[in-house]
Amino acid sequence: MMFTLAIVGRPNVGKSTLFNRLVGKRLALVDDQPGVTRDLREGQARLGDLRFIVIDSAGLEMADDESLQGRMRRLTERAVDEADICLFVLDGRVGVTAADEYFAELLRKRAKHIILAVNKAEGRAGEAGAMEAFSLGLGEPLRLSAEHGEGMDDLYRTLLPLA
Ligand code: GDP
Ligand code: MG
Repeated sequence: MMFTLAIVGRPNVGKSTLFNRLVGKRLALVDDQPGVTRDLREGQARLGDLRFIVIDSAGLEMADDESLQGRMRRLTERAVDEADICLFVLDGRVGVTAADEYFAELLRKRAKHIILAVNKAEGRAGEAGAMEAFSLGLGEPLRLSAEHGEGMDDLYRTLLPLA
């Protein structure tokens, strides 16, 4: 079965970097500026023998008004609604923020299935962040490095039974 995976999380956690790795093309804009992806991007992902649709989202924003942030938030909510699985990405070097806790609640209410991932966890970086991530009550987080391609085997093993 072909499923749709939405990559969601705060700006700058590495969503677009992961999207690019899964799609294998430089489709999504990666930038040091938080929130640079302002619309939804969809691509055909390949991970081992898995094929699925992946959505790169604008970055969860707390604003819920007519501002750019509010628009980005609504786009992200649309991605969450459309997706079979939400990959909720945290920054392992930053740890769990108030915004992450807020969005964990939003996803718990809205997402059909949530996979928690701590990104930027190359080498031993992100170990503390991964410990903290348990407190979100979303299970054991995957430890990923989208930039260095680490943890992709664990992501595969997590997605396989859901495919
Ligand atoms: P997005 O806003 O969530 O889409 O984040 P981006 O993919 O645009 O990445 C934001 C910044 O984090 C960029 O400078 C990336 O190079 C960097 N980044 C992304 N993934 C990793 C990672 O696995 N490790 C490290 N150290 N940096 C990363
Ligand atoms: Mg992005």
